[in-house]
Amino acid sequence: MAREGFEQVLAVQDETAGLRGFLGLHDTSAGPAFGGIRRFAYRDEAAALMDCLRLSKAMSYKCALNDIPGGGAKLVVLERPEADLSRTYRAIGRTVEGLGGRYYAGPDVGTGWQELSYVAEETSYVTRPGSHGPGDLSEATAAGVFASIAAGLRSRDGSEDWQRRRVVLQGVGRVGERLAQRLASLGVHVMASETDLDRRAELEGLLDVEWIEPSSEFTVDVDVFAPCAMGGVLHDLSIQRLSAKVVCGAANTPLARSMHADALHRRGVLFIPDILATAGALIRGATFHLDGEAAGLDEIESRIGATVEGFLLEARRLDVAPWRLAKEEAERRIHARRERRVADSLVPGVRRAKQRPEAGAAPNRSESSVDSRNSLSENLPT
Ligand code: NAD
Repeated sequence: MAREGFEQVLAVQDETAGLRGFLGLHDTSAGPAFGGIRRFAYRDEAAALMDCLRLSKAMSYKCALNDIPGGGAKLVVLERPEADLSRTYRAIGRTVEGLGGRYYAGPDVGTGWQELSYVAEETSYVTRPGSHGPGDLSEATAAGVFASIAAGLRSRDGSEDWQRRRVVLQGVGRVGERLAQRLASLGVHVMASETDLDRRAELEGLLDVEWIEPSSEFTVDVDVFAPCAMGGVLHDLSIQRLSAKVVCGAANTPLARSMHADALHRRGVLFIPDILATAGALIRGATFHLDGEAAGLDEIESRIGATVEGFLLEARRLDVAPWRLAKEEAERRIHARRERRVADSLVPGVRRAKQRPEAGAAPNRSESSVDSRNSLSENLPT
């Protein structure tokens, strides 16, 4: 926890409900931590914990890069056949309530409106369905991903030129469906894979997409690969097979490791950092909880589009992977937020002394934390 800069990691268990999971609170130095609840059939607890850490840290990056006065968290739940859903999520609600507003829970893979409504029975620190909540978060995510794909195509080819584009989606869930609709409405040839055959059958008459087999997303001839399912899909093997020239989707932490962003860059593939592209739901949810009014789709699209464009321009100028720039900038901002919180908590006399370190003094806490941040960057994939 110290090396990775986590404030708190909780193991949560309620045997009567069948709940077993982890909550990572990465950073609350600028405000409450925001993050969804993921329920997934993890191989074991270690895999669940690792996912929790990766995802909660990525949420802190998203907050910092989008000037959200809050930080990152994630609650992961191990999918267990014996679990009772309403009891599981109500137990989660009590855990969230116990944190007294340090953590706001939202949707993620395996957690939709039904599950969130159980959580809402126990706490108000949750994204609520219907008129009591911020509205559809998946459409906000899809809007941000769409704006990011557009910025990527402009950066690469000078224009979006939708009608001659081919895009492949891996996974057509809540976000993928909205993204596919938007792209198809502009004349894009959309291809998609979906492992859940019931889901695919449900969408077949609704979406104008060409269905392909899962795993063939990497090799089909397309302009854009949009990972919209799980993370960790960009690794040594998949990158070798990738035919797309732009990678941008909804999936959180699609890189197996940071070094894979460099591998993509070396191959001439423009990878739009997920910590920029997927911030739509966070922006909508956080503005609702903090300001009382959720950001609209146009605002989200223009905000994320402008941020992505800025990073792509700078990355091109420096000839580095945009991921490197975004990650470094996020870490710099989180570091500054934490420094500010430390400074604000000091009594005035100590604060003055801290602002004028004596020559030759030992590195202060912030300097040593920069060192540890650098080493953690290579250890955790995000
Ligand atoms: P979802 O569970 O509704 O959809 C994911 C879909 O991908 C499912 O239909 C699933 O069957 C399919 N799938 C899983 N593995 C696959 C594979 N290997 N190949 C093809 N299909 C596969 O989830 P979602 O809400 O649409 O989110 C998708 C991704 O975007 C997740 O990684 C999530 O963390 C991320 N994300 C979502 C939001 C949001 O607002 N929902 C916000 C930010 C990031």
